[in-house]
Amino acid sequence: MEKFITDEIQNEAIEDLSKIVGIASYNEKAESKAPFGKGPKKALEQVLAITEKLGFKTYEDPDGYYGYADIGTGDQTFGIVGHMDEVPAGNLEAWDVEPYKLTEKDGKLYGRGTQDDKGPTMSAIYAIKAILDKGYKLNKKIRVIFGTDEEILWRCLAEYNKKEDPIDLGIAPDAEFPLIYAEKGLQQSYLVGPGSKELHLDLENAFNAVPGKAVYDGPKQTEVFEALKKHGFEADKKDNSIEVHGKSVHAMNAPEGVNAVVRLGIALAEVYPQIKVLQFLKAFGEDANGTNLLGDVSDDVSGKLTFNISSLKITDDESRMQIDLRIPVKIDHDQLVQQISDAVAKFGLKYENFDYVAPLYVPTDSELVKTLMSTYQDLTGDMKSQPAISGGATFARTMHNCVAFGGMLPTTPDFMHQANENWSKADMRKAMEIFAEAIYRLCVK
Ligand SMILES: [Zn+2]
Repeated sequence: MEKFITDEIQNEAIEDLSKIVGIASYNEKAESKAPFGKGPKKALEQVLAITEKLGFKTYEDPDGYYGYADIGTGDQTFGIVGHMDEVPAGNLEAWDVEPYKLTEKDGKLYGRGTQDDKGPTMSAIYAIKAILDKGYKLNKKIRVIFGTDEEILWRCLAEYNKKEDPIDLGIAPDAEFPLIYAEKGLQQSYLVGPGSKELHLDLENAFNAVPGKAVYDGPKQTEVFEALKKHGFEADKKDNSIEVHGKSVHAMNAPEGVNAVVRLGIALAEVYPQIKVLQFLKAFGEDANGTNLLGDVSDDVSGKLTFNISSLKITDDESRMQIDLRIPVKIDHDQLVQQISDAVAKFGLKYENFDYVAPLYVPTDSELVKTLMSTYQDLTGDMKSQPAISGGATFARTMHNCVAFGGMLPTTPDFMHQANENWSKADMRKAMEIFAEAIYRLCVK
């Protein structure tokens, strides 16, 4: 294998990385042509200036949502998708160094964004430069795409996909090597039905967590408490309320949690049998895979559907629940929504979309995954780590035929979103070597 990355190349990459780490680029108030505030906009313009200097042809979205840098030509476009926004430094007392300044200490590069995602993005840019410095010609166009709203709502790449042509294949260096090839679809919705004059509830929680507690302060508390006990549900009787206990976990692991809202709903269904939304909860039961409602929804790649009910509101006018679904990658989304709509209609409920993020799935026997895996293995000797399925979400899923690839090694300590975020120069060097060899194999050979 050819040695693409030298000390000189890495030092240049660090020099340019310091320019973008030096710009605080967390989400702030929108300004004209800067929909996510001054910082992300400035960091975007800085990285475009850097790539311009390196010979890329750059473009900034006139509305300020995203930018990109192109180099090489060919029938296909290889995308590298990173982001220039970051989370705020948080409590400055917790930092040993100035967060918005690249500081090298004991072989480590400190500063917000060094791991997530300015460091990996700059490493990939310089990996391309290293190949071109050797005189190789690219057989594809490489486009480095810079998002500016990854940490919040991904509006940058939503805009990109509205305005630009899709890439043919690509990587998002914003997670861990070797690679992530599957992420479930993410659907957040409401189920809405008739209200009730006898019972009002206001159990509000975040979409993406299994509620670990539900407080009932309505009428008929003795009956409700009896019903909870009858089911063996853990609950405490307080002066004027009942506290139902569950176990809170992230919605993507919903079956491992205990849903206190559902438990309270099941108990209430016995006391208020005429209220339809409670009959729905009784039928749904404690199965966070939604099997009672939908039967088995699963595939051989990413496993079972998870179905989290996180809130329950009943007023005079309506009943309303929030649901969070993590949908197996091979399941047809529209068909599933239809199936849910039909199933809940029996309980007088209507399905309402809130937010949908499509799944990521690039088969492990695809050229892209095979090439990236063998590159990683050849450069690290790590034959144990396998292509991964993630319950989380990376930018890879916003692009066609794209996987999350690096920049952290499995052995790199995780400092993303934390105080003293840092990336060791040795790990950065390895990431640059892997990126260079992967790009060489995919875009030169
Ligand atoms: Zn990131």
